Amino acid sequence: MRKSVGIAVLMGICGLLVLASGAFAADVEIGCAIYKFDDTFMTGVRNAIAEAAKDKAKVDIVDSQNSQSTQNDRVDMFITKRMNSMAINPVDRTAAGVIIDKAKAENIPVVFFNREPLPEDMHKWDKVYYVGAKAEESGTMSGQIIVDYWTSHPEADRNGDGVLQYVMLKGEPGHQDAELRTEFSMKAVADAGIKVEKLAEDTGLWDRVRGQEKMAAFLAAHGDKIEAVFANNDDMALGAIEALKAAGYFKDGKFMPVVGVDATAPAIQALEEGTLLGTVLNDAVNQGVATFNLAYLLAKGETPTSENAGYEITDGQYVWVPYKKVTLENVAEFK
Ligand code: BGC
Ligand code: CA
Repeated sequence: MRKSVGIAVLMGICGLLVLASGAFAADVEIGCAIYKFDDTFMTGVRNAIAEAAKDKAKVDIVDSQNSQSTQNDRVDMFITKRMNSMAINPVDRTAAGVIIDKAKAENIPVVFFNREPLPEDMHKWDKVYYVGAKAEESGTMSGQIIVDYWTSHPEADRNGDGVLQYVMLKGEPGHQDAELRTEFSMKAVADAGIKVEKLAEDTGLWDRVRGQEKMAAFLAAHGDKIEAVFANNDDMALGAIEALKAAGYFKDGKFMPVVGVDATAPAIQALEEGTLLGTVLNDAVNQGVATFNLAYLLAKGETPTSENAGYEITDGQYVWVPYKKVTLENVAEFK
């Protein structure tokens, strides 16, 4: 009798411990798919997600290897494993609709990030969120960096025709950041009353090696006619700088204004070395933390609000992390 009371008490204590550790959320599991691991900016976001998850939830982060069908398989696996929520960086943002349909059928909330689903897909379900940054903003800022340089350096107009001859490294076609940065950087230049002539444009696919190859080709075709380089991310800008160095730039007074976006560590270094003219902070840390916070709340069955998420939620489904201009003047803040 006494023995069984003892056992009962023990079992009760164990039960309490289990309950308490339940609140511990080692059992909150989030499935996270990145479009590809081999992307400098996304590596920053990925690390921020992993860091934010520490002691809170288990986040299973997988590589979609730049293939939407691979990513769809990963999502199916997350669903089979009954993840409590998912955080998805789509390979092809137009594929979000299919992911949302599957997730909704199984009632597993989804937070998309960095590659914005189309509005009609976002409207399919209220347990779908997006964390990103307003691409227009970054385009405007990178355009303004070139405008400031152009207006304060008359010699930048090499051929003295009053027109800014430029080349553009756009990034992956269809990606909102590639399309809108291209459009809005040029709009900022036009708004400043500067006439432009596009000498060349290529996708560069966000990639450093491609940026270098394309810039080498632009130089072979247009040589010193080029007066500015717009790159829609830092990796492509850094690749372009390599090609420019090989063509004799950044020494003996030969300069080329090159602007990027992201403010990655190597870009900050290039800025300080005087090769990169400027960049725009694409805040990987806050995008990662916001993504985790939303996914975590949803995983626990809570409804995210601006208060509990720690980030302002707009239109019920969006977190917009602000961009910031980075030039030599304020670079110290970004190290
Ligand atoms: C970044 C790029 C990155 C891309 C990946 C953009 O926001 O600026 O560097 O390659 O996202 O989707
Ligand atoms: Ca000119």
